[in-house]
Amino acid sequence: MIEVVRQAGVVGAGGAGFPTHVKLDVRGNLDTVIVNGAECEPLLRVDQELIKMHAAELVETLALCVSTIGAKRGVFAVKKKNQAACEALSAAIASASMSTSPPNPIQLAILGDYYPAGDEQLLVYEVTGKAVPEGGLPLHVGAVVVNVETLWNIHQAVKGVPVVDTYVTVTGAVRQPITVRAAIGTPVRELIKAAGGISADGDDGSHVGHGDGDGDNTTNNVAIIHGGPMMGSLLATLDTPVSKLTKGLIVLPGDHPLVRKMKQPATAAFSRAASSCCQCRQCTDLCPRYLLGHSLAPHMMMRAAGYGLIGDTTAWTTAFLCSECGVCEHFACTASLSPRLLYKTVKNRLAAAGVKNPHHDADTPRSAIAEHRVPTSRLIWRLGLTAYDVAAPLVEDLDLLLRPAEVRIPLKQNAGAPATPVVQVGEQVERGRVVAEIPSGALGARHHASISGKVTAINAAGEVVISRD
Ligand code: SF4
Ligand code: SF4
Repeated sequence: MIEVVRQAGVVGAGGAGFPTHVKLDVRGNLDTVIVNGAECEPLLRVDQELIKMHAAELVETLALCVSTIGAKRGVFAVKKKNQAACEALSAAIASASMSTSPPNPIQLAILGDYYPAGDEQLLVYEVTGKAVPEGGLPLHVGAVVVNVETLWNIHQAVKGVPVVDTYVTVTGAVRQPITVRAAIGTPVRELIKAAGGISADGDDGSHVGHGDGDGDNTTNNVAIIHGGPMMGSLLATLDTPVSKLTKGLIVLPGDHPLVRKMKQPATAAFSRAASSCCQCRQCTDLCPRYLLGHSLAPHMMMRAAGYGLIGDTTAWTTAFLCSECGVCEHFACTASLSPRLLYKTVKNRLAAAGVKNPHHDADTPRSAIAEHRVPTSRLIWRLGLTAYDVAAPLVEDLDLLLRPAEVRIPLKQNAGAPATPVVQVGEQVERGRVVAEIPSGALGARHHASISGKVTAINAAGEVVISRD
């Protein structure tokens, strides 16, 4: 099964895109395979929609993963508030248990509605009661975590279908929020169109009717977040192609406070740390990784940044322990400062300089871990997104999305090395044909044509461009 998963190009959907065949190839003492259905990023709906539509297939595939890896059990972790998804899984698990002997070791763990319930390390603690050590992996405590769409892609791989589509929630200031299945490489513009285009509140009134005439009703007055509002990033252009990692597109007015905050440069965040941090340590007290017992303390880093304490090396190197969840930045800090952005900037600079994470302690979670959880509804309110917290039902077969006129398939859609093209410009390819391979000896994933057509370019941006016949 692992080889089948490798050939199908399955990577962790929505995260950093870690190649799934590597993640599953664990030959050791594995206890639990956890399916992350927490979907804790506000407004995103992919996992719950997939569960509602394909619960039986997902249960069957998790059972296959459990037996392939030699784990003791498989656990779906889903929030209680997603009642329909919980009921669909319960029914599918009961039915699978009745049809196998010994009983199928698949269980359902019900999660509360807090952020970030889907953080891999918090989830492992919630399901197994074990805390992953600093800088460690779930594997260090006998667990492997895959998300719902990844499990669906494994199911497809076993059926012989490679990863050619991705599931995306298109929401925010659009006329019809939806979750769609789009061919990988489809321009974001097409998905916005499928959601009915930008709605009036995505425009401040002065721009109504000033769309650029291509049907998506976009103006310069909106911003698009790629991913979720907490950990996503702003898109530079609507021509950006969706990839295996795209889970959400959130349209917001260009002057929305969240957008303004996301546009803040790191230099400004450092200056504001110096001028405005009162050392209240709310950012630390609510930090999910600190609560897990890890030694990061964002208020100490803010102090080091504010006073230029470059000798306080622990304050800086604990940046490696930050998950970039954004609780400190978007919820905890009443001065609206940005510890997450500073940690991210420092982490990238340390990594670029060849510095490795020196923190590997294993500690017990802090006693306040349950009390200091951030309720999702309050977080959404704090983000100014309550009006956009609506259903986004899955539309499975939108032909427009399955066969766009042109796709641009990124060679880098995974952790590790970019894939190497194995097609030539001018070559005819069928949907599902391999267009890029894992470089020899490298960590990576292969990628496939998502539409049938002709390869028209392998461009400087590292994309295989295919035009539909
Ligand atoms: S919550 Fe804000 S003001 Fe308080 S210590 Fe953290 S960064 Fe400083
Ligand atoms: S982003 Fe902030 S709250 Fe989240 S892990 Fe990093 S320091 Fe902690």
